[in-house]
Amino acid sequence: MIGKKLPEEGPRIGKIVESKKIEAESENRVPDVSLKQIVKDIFFQPRVLVVDDEERIQKACQRLLVEEGCEVDVAQNGIQGLKMIEERHYDIVLLDLMMPGMSGLDVLSDLKSRHPDTVVIIITGYATLEHSIETMKKGAFDFLSKPFAPQELRIVISKAIEFIRTLQDITTEKSRMRVMINTLRDGVLTTDHQKRIALANPACLKMLRCHKQSVLGNLVSDVFDEPTVLGMIDTAIAQPKEMFSEITEEVCVSMGKGNEDLIIGVRCIPFRDRLNRNLGTVTVFHDITALKKEDQLKSDFVSMVAHEIKSPLNSVLMQLNVVLDGLAGELSEKQKEILNRSSAKIKSLTELATELLDLSKIESGLINQEREELNLEELIKEHVSLYRSEADEKSIHLIGKPSEKDLFIMGNRINIEEVLTNLISNAIRYTPPGGKIEVWADEASDCIRIHVEDNGLGIPADALENIFERFYRVKNEKTRYINGTGLGLAIVKSIVESHHGTIHVDSVEDQGAQFTISLPKTVYKI
Ligand code: ADP
Repeated sequence: MIGKKLPEEGPRIGKIVESKKIEAESENRVPDVSLKQIVKDIFFQPRVLVVDDEERIQKACQRLLVEEGCEVDVAQNGIQGLKMIEERHYDIVLLDLMMPGMSGLDVLSDLKSRHPDTVVIIITGYATLEHSIETMKKGAFDFLSKPFAPQELRIVISKAIEFIRTLQDITTEKSRMRVMINTLRDGVLTTDHQKRIALANPACLKMLRCHKQSVLGNLVSDVFDEPTVLGMIDTAIAQPKEMFSEITEEVCVSMGKGNEDLIIGVRCIPFRDRLNRNLGTVTVFHDITALKKEDQLKSDFVSMVAHEIKSPLNSVLMQLNVVLDGLAGELSEKQKEILNRSSAKIKSLTELATELLDLSKIESGLINQEREELNLEELIKEHVSLYRSEADEKSIHLIGKPSEKDLFIMGNRINIEEVLTNLISNAIRYTPPGGKIEVWADEASDCIRIHVEDNGLGIPADALENIFERFYRVKNEKTRYINGTGLGLAIVKSIVESHHGTIHVDSVEDQGAQFTISLPKTVYKI
């Protein structure tokens, strides 16, 4: 028993003589805590200061805590205690409330205002509810009411050490994160839900050309003037609970006279609490200038090669046609057959060159500049009738299904026609005779969709993820005799993406394929 002379009560500090027996008894009542083990597990030796005017308590606490591996000092009163705390740091202070001179409460207030990290445990002989509330309000961590058993002291100290350890872990983690984020080459910007900056690493400030020393707590719009980024943060914050999507954009930042512009890939995403409420945003900036340049070079090269190949191919084709038409003399059947085969090969080479040119034009953003309002049902109708005879030749039932209402998108006519051409001609080529193809448009909550569905060969599951890559073709017995360049779907994807849309394919091999394009809603007419 510590704290009071109560001979008949036994196991409490304050009745040191009987402490062994006392501990044994008390340990029947309070859980066993190995403070020694806890102290051993942590990386520091906890420094404890006992501030109490009763010598018995000072001694008993000091002896017990030293035995448990703590470093312990004692102070006779509040003034001495505060002086010692000023001179060296204590992790834990055991503080008596009732002392002559400065009261424990005053010591607590003074101590907490200057050393908020120090954990204070109040020792009191008369812990009333009011007292407890008052000391807790002033920042006390826990209570020990006199008299107390050694094991109670151990428990309270071990709780305090756990608390200090958790705080240290958080501080260490924070410091590790700070170093990581500050050394990242990508920019990172986080805001709270009021769009105030909570973090902006040096890379972010550099990319967005911000020279301010301190930006934390400021509104993003007061610090950065990049409208796309501000718009993305607005959109992310405004996302309703049931929606959670990453917003991605490419931003071109002018780096001033004589410096090359930066092209930055920006991704913005909201972060949420347990109830799915938006707490703020995280935006990541990745410098893609070099990548873009490389892509442009590749595109230019492909376009140059394709262009250079196309004209000689056309002239070879024309000359072959002259010979085939018999204008250069009579041809034998064998010669005709060979020339027809050569002509077919040259046609598919010309087609490849045309598609390569298209792709490089789309990728360099050349052909989708002009946008107009397009009525999807009309476009679908036109294309279905354009391909009707080709489908009929294979006995394929090609249907353009009407939409429930007129659906409009803002798009480049030539591009969107190319999308329909590619998807419908693919469906015809990869559907065996007797099959069925349906084309229609509909409206989802946040987009307009175009669907092209067939019940043909379908696409093997392992090929689905590659289907939109340039030059990728499914190679198997069934597709062996179907000609193609492997560029059609890559063109479709580039066009759809340049219209801020997405393309998706669903397919089961031998059962068919359904391509779905989702485009942003722009104009909607009843
Ligand atoms: P290709 O010129 O080879 O048709 P695409 O890029 O248009 O090139 O298509 C890539 C591959 O995707 C094709 O080779 C084919 O294997 C597969 N594919 C495309 N559309 C369909 C479809 N409707 N049904 C089954 N497979 C398809």
